Amino acid sequence: MDPVLVIGSGLAAYTLAREFRKLDRQTPLLLVSRDAADFYSKPMLSNALAGKKTALSLVMKSCDKMAAELNATVLAHSSVDSIDTQAHSITTAQGQTHRYRDLVLALGADATRPPLQGEGAEAVVSVNDLNDYAHFSDALAGAKTVAILGAGLIGCEFANDMLSRGIVPTVIDLAQHPLSRLLPQQASVYLRGRLEAVGVQFRFDVVADRVDRSGAGFAIALSDGAILQADLVLSAIGLRPRVALAQGCGIAVNRGVAVDRMLATSARNVYAIGDCAEVEGLNLPYVLPLMQQARALAATLCGTPSAVLYPAMPVVVKTPACPTVVCPPAAGAQGQWSVESTTEACEAHFVGSDGTLLGFALLGAATAKRQSLLAQVPALLAAD
Ligand SMILES: Cc1cc2nc3c(=O)[nH]c(=O)nc-3n(C[C@H](O)[C@H](O)[C@H](O)COP(=O)(O)OP(=O)(O)OC[C@H]3O[C@@H](n4cnc5c(N)ncnc54)[C@H](O)[C@@H]3O)c2cc1C
Repeated sequence: MDPVLVIGSGLAAYTLAREFRKLDRQTPLLLVSRDAADFYSKPMLSNALAGKKTALSLVMKSCDKMAAELNATVLAHSSVDSIDTQAHSITTAQGQTHRYRDLVLALGADATRPPLQGEGAEAVVSVNDLNDYAHFSDALAGAKTVAILGAGLIGCEFANDMLSRGIVPTVIDLAQHPLSRLLPQQASVYLRGRLEAVGVQFRFDVVADRVDRSGAGFAIALSDGAILQADLVLSAIGLRPRVALAQGCGIAVNRGVAVDRMLATSARNVYAIGDCAEVEGLNLPYVLPLMQQARALAATLCGTPSAVLYPAMPVVVKTPACPTVVCPPAAGAQGQWSVESTTEACEAHFVGSDGTLLGFALLGAATAKRQSLLAQVPALLAAD
């Protein structure tokens, strides 16, 4: 029997494999991944310094242990180069061909490289997997200052985490405030204040134009003419879904690999989940959506066609200096933010014209209200 074949070994691939095995212990399951296929939790990468973690200690289970636990074959260090959707097969860079009954793309996303001039630009690091983290933590040895490009979720989390090492982070962003795409302005200002109070520095309204080597560190030229010195430069400006493999074999892609609510791509028996997938126009690169996808797809692959459901899904921002939970309103939702803040807490509600709570942001002590507010927010993708 041809296997259910999953490309990838990140949270999406392994969550799907686990959900599938809850329902089916027999059908052959094959995971093919270009990395070492050890199991780890990617969100821990941006708060690993405080826990004194190494890349090795972040591994929760080895590839072999996962294979045994899942009764699966896991091929590590095998990059898939092409898919033949007619023949129902994939080919790896090593020239191996594997047939599939069903194929699941769980390919993740690439860190976006900033368009930088200067001979130091190549040395700018980003952290999107365990290898990156190993390189990053080596490069941090002895660093006292780090410039972080991007004041989004990942940039702010790394900035907070670096404080635990006595490093002074300077976060640079073209926006006026941190997390400007997730938070209303007053809540962003609150977050900024709490992060600055513990030692994070911000440079807003500017971009880094060039990075040059300067002594043992770097000189970062900003668009306002200022030059910032730092021992290391970390880019956290965003992610792009990996679509090239799907595109190369004629599968429809938009920003991500385009799938319907059954997680089905335009090719027969080929599905996509996780950071690479765009579900009916929604590319949500977070853990909760991929768990919902994995549950639905596992049921479908086991003979019970199941559309993915998205309940309201909060995003937890791992900034201990200012605990933050955001449940963003759906893109294009009509409504208004109202924000109240005190020294200890900031609470923001996004309310539609009919009075329905469509989203919220809770910071500081207000995070205690997370469950009660979550219960009021409508699902993003509901049952038909
Ligand atoms: C620093 C950081 C912090 C985060 N924090 C949070 C958080 O707090 N909360 C939250 O909800 N989300 C967070 N996220 C997002 C979350 O981690 C991701 O949504 C999730 O891990 C994506 O899982 P994935 O399996 O889709 O992708 P990945 O983990 O990237 O896995 C992709 C897999 O595909 C493999 N692959 C790719 N191409 C090929 C190929 N051609 N052939 C073979 N294998 C291939 C890769 O080797 C890899 O195994 C964070 C992300 C980062 C980077």
